[in-house]
Amino acid sequence: MKNIIITGGAGFIGSHVVREFVKNNPDTKIINLDALTYAGNLENLKDIEDEPNYVFEKADITKPEELRKVFEKYNPDAVVHLAAESHVDRSITDPMAFINTNVNGTANLLNLCKEFWTLNPDHTHGRFPDEKRNNLFYHISTDEVYGSLGETGFFLETTSYDPQSPYSASKAASDHLVRAYGNTYGMPFIVSNCSNNYGPNHFPEKLIPLCISNIINEKPLPIYGDGKYTRDWLFVIDHARAIHQIFKEAKTGETYNIGGFNEWQNIDLVKELIKQMDAKLERPEGYSEKLITFVKDRPGHDKRYAIDATKLNKDLGWKPSVTFEEGLGKTIDWYLENKEWLENVTSGDYQKYYEKQYS
Ligand code: NAD
Repeated sequence: MKNIIITGGAGFIGSHVVREFVKNNPDTKIINLDALTYAGNLENLKDIEDEPNYVFEKADITKPEELRKVFEKYNPDAVVHLAAESHVDRSITDPMAFINTNVNGTANLLNLCKEFWTLNPDHTHGRFPDEKRNNLFYHISTDEVYGSLGETGFFLETTSYDPQSPYSASKAASDHLVRAYGNTYGMPFIVSNCSNNYGPNHFPEKLIPLCISNIINEKPLPIYGDGKYTRDWLFVIDHARAIHQIFKEAKTGETYNIGGFNEWQNIDLVKELIKQMDAKLERPEGYSEKLITFVKDRPGHDKRYAIDATKLNKDLGWKPSVTFEEGLGKTIDWYLENKEWLENVTSGDYQKYYEKQYS
């Protein structure tokens, strides 16, 4: 494949995915297509912006005419689709933005792929007898489409969808559209559903970077409800590695769950962060625990997510490269070394959003 469009490449996960593809595919042009919303930041890609196989195109996936120009310019062989509105809290206050970007935006991309690619009608549910693929639509999704778990059990690739927030419902709709285009038109596709990511470049509205930022600044650490919400966490660079490996090696028509085999209750996670950060900041042990502040719960909050990534491990041999404690340490170091990045993204619009959300 000569030209690959990665959508949402200026965002948190997208920037790591772009870097992974640029570094491992010197003969392929990697086109980072991004609208640069509040969550997109080209600073995330400063280290690779001069690489000869990297190019940035500003375009909005909700605007088909903008997408068409990029498709006409590059005639892409594949699309790796990450662009999305991604924050559950924002989806509660403004669901339409999520439906426009995550559902309509995905449909716009699929329609252009359908128009530009010669699709193979000889398939069963997007699975082709001849695996020599010329094109691929690889859709990046979340484990939140599966809904909420009780105290036991794991999400499998076969688990029924049961999304509970406008964000997860919009992602579920986009997953269904991708599979429907595979089934109906022979679009070669792959979908992967991943658990919560953490790591460098994470916008500080999400739990881990928000707490890192607030521990540095000795501001309250807002924890929803009783703090017992449980999530599986994966270091973002391990997610980017998984996406690259799936892109290269997986069969079309497949779905993969990606996760860290690493469940944490929010309160325990925040205490681990405090432990590591107080040591790095040379503060007394437990100093920042006084910042923990329980806040009113998010409406319809899912209790527990836990993902089983065994299929990915068995089929492709992928597994996380770092433990959670190691990944958290690397993440904290990155934020401490990049205070300017943090200051830039926490000024302006984000500040207004933060004050409204937690006042
Ligand atoms: P993010 O919010 O950090 O980045 C999203 C990127 O998409 C930004 O660069 C933004 O500018 C761009 N974008 C938004 N709307 C756009 C539009 N209309 N047109 C073009 N670009 C647009 O998100 P993230 O956390 O990096 O998530 C990336 C993808 O991975 C999303 O599809 C998300 O659903 C999925 N995902 C995220 C997580 C997680 O923990 N963050 C976990 C599993 C799956």
